[in-house]
Amino acid sequence: MIDLRSDTITKPTPPMLEAMWGATVGDDVYDEDMTVNQLQQKAADMFGMEAALFCPSGTMTNQIAMRVLTQPQDEIICYNGAHIYKYEGGGLAYNSQVSTRLIHSQNGILHPADVSNNVNDDNIHYPTTSVVALENSVNRAGGTCYTLDQIKAVTTAARQHQLKTHLDGARVFNALVSTGDKAQDYGQYFDTISICLSKGLGCPVGSLVLSSHELIKKAKRSRKVLGGAMRQVGYMAAAGIYALDNHVARLSNDHQRAQTIAQHLTTKSYVLNLIPVQTNIVLFDLPNHDTVERLLAHLKNHGILAGMMDKLTMRFVTHLDFDDDQLEQFLKVLDLF
Ligand SMILES: *Cc1c(COP(=O)(O)O)cnc(C)c1O
Repeated sequence: MIDLRSDTITKPTPPMLEAMWGATVGDDVYDEDMTVNQLQQKAADMFGMEAALFCPSGTMTNQIAMRVLTQPQDEIICYNGAHIYKYEGGGLAYNSQVSTRLIHSQNGILHPADVSNNVNDDNIHYPTTSVVALENSVNRAGGTCYTLDQIKAVTTAARQHQLKTHLDGARVFNALVSTGDKAQDYGQYFDTISICLSKGLGCPVGSLVLSSHELIKKAKRSRKVLGGAMRQVGYMAAAGIYALDNHVARLSNDHQRAQTIAQHLTTKSYVLNLIPVQTNIVLFDLPNHDTVERLLAHLKNHGILAGMMDKLTMRFVTHLDFDDDQLEQFLKVLDLF
């Protein structure tokens, strides 16, 4: 099977398993898992943040970040296709009791005017705007990336309005490899950053929320109440340390393969609105839902799984377990459609 539904489907490589197998562990609820502590410090240092907290999923790290940055009745500003709004089960309303101010953006990128035009005045009729949440890369917009300059501009606007800033960095390593920006430069612009180990980096599980010592202390309370405090989880943290050391630079291979797929798709008359590929996501529309179903079925018949983003939109995601031989086979199967 060739699986292009998501970069979450990867399995640990033999050396990653070896790193996991050899991990020193302890009870992380008592802060006694040295491997977790090491991963947390490593991730925080990498992004120029003070501290970090290891959690089971990216949904949890985003939800925890919103809990620590907001009060009930607040409002957060985000892209209308943001994961935090669209794909977390209504968690913002449920966990943080906040409303969302959705910004319609063609490529998912927010600009300073999106902030200044959407901050509510101090008036009891309006929710209190308190956070600007960005996503990089932007999943629903086809893996588009913010440059550091764009991040600086929009977060500076947010801070001028006394707003807090959050980055959903589930695929931030793809964005960093694509733009050439440095993780180290990100910390200064955000109050909280969430990063995922289980997407492009190829770990079986894990995500971290990065922030200040003070907010991470608060975050720990949120993680506990969400049921996300784990015990001898250093085995998973070891996979994370291995991935941060060995699986970041190689993301450019995934990006190259996504480019090749996109170039191939430009020759197909049924492909509409193909989004220029910047990372490992290929997103495009088909003329109608019937064609989507037929293409999915055709691929499946040839042992290939692909994703449907909505009725007309298909998604291919390249990853660690998709190599050049599979790429060649995939393009041949596309030609048979
Ligand atoms: C995958 C993803 C997450 C987190 O998802 P989990 O499945 O909960 O780990 C968060 N944000 C974005 C943009 C994502 O793509």
